[in-house]
Amino acid sequence: MGVNIQKFIELQNELNSFNAELVAVSKLKPSIDIMELYNHGQKCFGENYVQELITKQEELPTDIKWHFIGHLQSKKVKTLTSFVELIHGVDSVKLLSEINKQAALNSTKLNVLLQVHISQEVTKFGFDEVEMETIIQSVNENIFGNVFVKGFMGMASFTDNTHIIKNEFKGLKKLFDKTKILLDPKLSINFKTLSMGMTNDYKIALEEGSNMVRIGSAIFGERNG
Ligand SMILES: *Cc1c(COP(=O)(O)O)cnc(C)c1O
Repeated sequence: MGVNIQKFIELQNELNSFNAELVAVSKLKPSIDIMELYNHGQKCFGENYVQELITKQEELPTDIKWHFIGHLQSKKVKTLTSFVELIHGVDSVKLLSEINKQAALNSTKLNVLLQVHISQEVTKFGFDEVEMETIIQSVNENIFGNVFVKGFMGMASFTDNTHIIKNEFKGLKKLFDKTKILLDPKLSINFKTLSMGMTNDYKIALEEGSNMVRIGSAIFGERNG
C-alpha cells in the first residue's frame, strides 16, 4: 500500500491537458508519505485540520505550499496566517472578516477561495448565489482589503449519480463566470481559481471547467476514520 506514485503520474498527465492544478490532500496521512510525493515533485498539499497542518508545516520543507481545505473556525485563523498559501473553504462573512483582520495585523494579504454551496446536502457548507452577490459587492467596495479573493471552491453531493454531480459542477462554473464579470476589473484579474473535484468526481469536475482538484485517497490510499 502506501503512496500510489503510478496514479500520481497518471493524474499529472491528465491534469496537464486541462491546465488544472493538483492539491494533494494529505489529511490524516503521515509526513513520510508527504515527503515521498514531494520527492516526486509535488509541492502543493491540502490539509483539513489546523493542529495537524501546523505540526506538519513545522517539520516539512519550507517550499511546500499548504492549502487549508477544511472547515476553518474564525478563532484559529491567526495560527495559519504566517504560512498558509490558500484557504479554500471561506463560508461566512465572519470568517472572511477575521482572515482580513489577521492578514492586516501581519501586514500581509491572504489568498482565499469562497465556498459555494452546490450540493443537496444541508450538512455541507458554503454561500448561496444571493449571499455571494452581497459578498462580491463588499469585496468591490474594498471592505476586505487584505484578502485576495482568488476564486471559488465547491463540493458536489455524495452520490453515485453522475448526472447530479455534473449539474452541480456546471452550476458552480456558471456562477464563477458570472461573478468574474461582477467583480471590479482590477480584482477580477486575480479571480481565476475554480477548486472542484475530489477522488471520486474529479473527471466530471475537469470536464465542467475545474482548474484545481483536491485529491487524497486516489494518491495516498484510503483514510481511517
Ligand atoms: C478530504 C477532502 C478531499 C479529498 O478527498 P478524496 O476523496 O480523498 O480525494 C477534498 N476536498 C475536501 C474539502 C476534503 O475534505
